[in-house]
Amino acid sequence: MASTSHHLRKSAAPFSQARRRALQWMVAGCGCAACGSINARLLDFDLSAVEIASKTWAVLGRTDYFDMSNGGNIVNVAFIEVPDGIVVIDTGPSKRYGDALRALIEKTVPGKPILRVYNTHHHPDHFLGNQSFDANVIAAPQQVIENITIDGNGFADNMYRILGDWMRGTLPIAPTVALSSESEQVGGRKFSLFYLSGHTSSDFVIRDDQTGVVFAGDLAFLYRAPTTPHAQIDAWRESLDTLAAIDKDLLLPGHGPSDPKDESLSQTRDYLDWLYGTLSDAVSRGLTMNEAMILPISPEFEGLGVVRTEFERSVVHLYPALEDALYPVIEISQ
Ligand SMILES: [Zn+2]
Repeated sequence: MASTSHHLRKSAAPFSQARRRALQWMVAGCGCAACGSINARLLDFDLSAVEIASKTWAVLGRTDYFDMSNGGNIVNVAFIEVPDGIVVIDTGPSKRYGDALRALIEKTVPGKPILRVYNTHHHPDHFLGNQSFDANVIAAPQQVIENITIDGNGFADNMYRILGDWMRGTLPIAPTVALSSESEQVGGRKFSLFYLSGHTSSDFVIRDDQTGVVFAGDLAFLYRAPTTPHAQIDAWRESLDTLAAIDKDLLLPGHGPSDPKDESLSQTRDYLDWLYGTLSDAVSRGLTMNEAMILPISPEFEGLGVVRTEFERSVVHLYPALEDALYPVIEISQ
């Protein structure tokens, strides 16, 4: 009896600050069944589909950078109900996202088979959800498939580092169907296919010929700063010309809202022109990369999502090649 009351008294004693903090940390990182269900809720994407054209739904990501609060949901994907089933454009950043996308498709258009999944390019936010779909229906140009095969594991490793448990179980899966035709029929619907480049070495654009919706992937950004880790600026500009000339009713950029007026094309072009001009000028003035990174953002682009971060990343991506181009090595013959 004495020992019980002693035990109760001891338990009832107030925790010190340090012990309380330690307990909070343990609960936050706990792997028990009860806490697991809390964590599972926190790692829920809660995706929603927006009908942007007849039987065409976009799942719009945040105009942000990958972090633990968004779980990597910073990308636009889309799905279309065609007469005989469903066509999907891009699959998101992880298996968890891919599973959530499949559930959303089933909720929106129940009982329809997924006939085709297109990957617009090999960046991780666009294809790491492939695992949730039948590999036999996933299609892309050969160069996208090769890029995924070469870079997929490295991208996945990096995403695990940034997003931790959001990425659990994700493996990079390359498309199995290599496309090269100008168009294809899928489930009673004709899609025009465009093989472009500039954001990466292979950027695949799809137009639904019935609705006139163009799925532009990351050749087009709207209200979000373009990313440039594999950019070839001249090729990108040419692709923007091609995209502007395509007959369309609506364009879905890779990041940002759907665009009925090609605003994403002009905004992306203007940003690339400013970026290229600013960095070329910085190189010609002899600025170091660190000095270039703190240059001011043009007021025209200050409102773009994550513009400072992307500008700093672009300095890293583009500066070495600009230095090589503007300061060529001079061979001095003796
Ligand atoms: Zn991209």
